Amino acid sequence: MVRETKTTASTYTHAGGLMRQYPQLALAVLLVEGGVLGGDALRSRIELEVLRPDGARLEELDPHDSRTVDRARALLRELVADWAADRGYQAAPSSGTDCRACDVHGWCATGRERTKTVDGAA
Ligand code: SF4
Repeated sequence: MVRETKTTASTYTHAGGLMRQYPQLALAVLLVEGGVLGGDALRSRIELEVLRPDGARLEELDPHDSRTVDRARALLRELVADWAADRGYQAAPSSGTDCRACDVHGWCATGRERTKTVDGAA
């Protein structure tokens, strides 16, 4: 079993479903379906526990359901398409990204260069 736990005050669920909202669930589906994690794969499942102020909700994904596996594979293929096609590997955040708020800004050359341009100092 793989369990992902999230806390939120929102009742919002992405229109594309749980795997689009939390792509790590799609990855977990494929890892379990492929037997990568070991153990008894036939008894395995993916769980999402969402903790809200008014209680908890538990969702389950069956890694042996062919439609779930197909959706997981299609979603991950879509999400990694740009990365897989990239041959330059230049860090290039989308416009509007504030590099100053990024956790790795301190050692990211691109981020430091961007903020130097904007602020006049790194
Ligand atoms: S600091 Fe670097 S890693 Fe962070 S958003 Fe900017 S370019 Fe990306």
